[in-house]
Amino acid sequence: MANQEPAFTYERCIACGMCVTVCPVSALALSVVGKDDINTSFPTLTDRPCTGCGLCKKSCPMDAIAMEYI
Ligand code: SF4
Ligand code: SF4
Repeated sequence: MANQEPAFTYERCIACGMCVTVCPVSALALSVVGKDDINTSFPTLTDRPCTGCGLCKKSCPMDAIAMEYI
């Protein structure tokens, strides 16, 4: 089981989708977050198990991802 998973700082995120693309287990997807900005999709964890590999964090050009222990 993973002992860490990504946490997103959406203020920094430019919704490029890179983290979603690199995730080897499809544990991320772009989806609408929040009610005030319905045109913007941000990455969120899906129901597929994250392995905690950290590739998404490494791929992010905006340093918007931190790995957090769970
Ligand atoms: S840590 Fe690895 S498995 Fe988890 S969401 Fe990021 S890329 Fe996917
Ligand atoms: S890689 Fe970074 S900037 Fe791009 S969608 Fe993911 S969190 Fe946002």
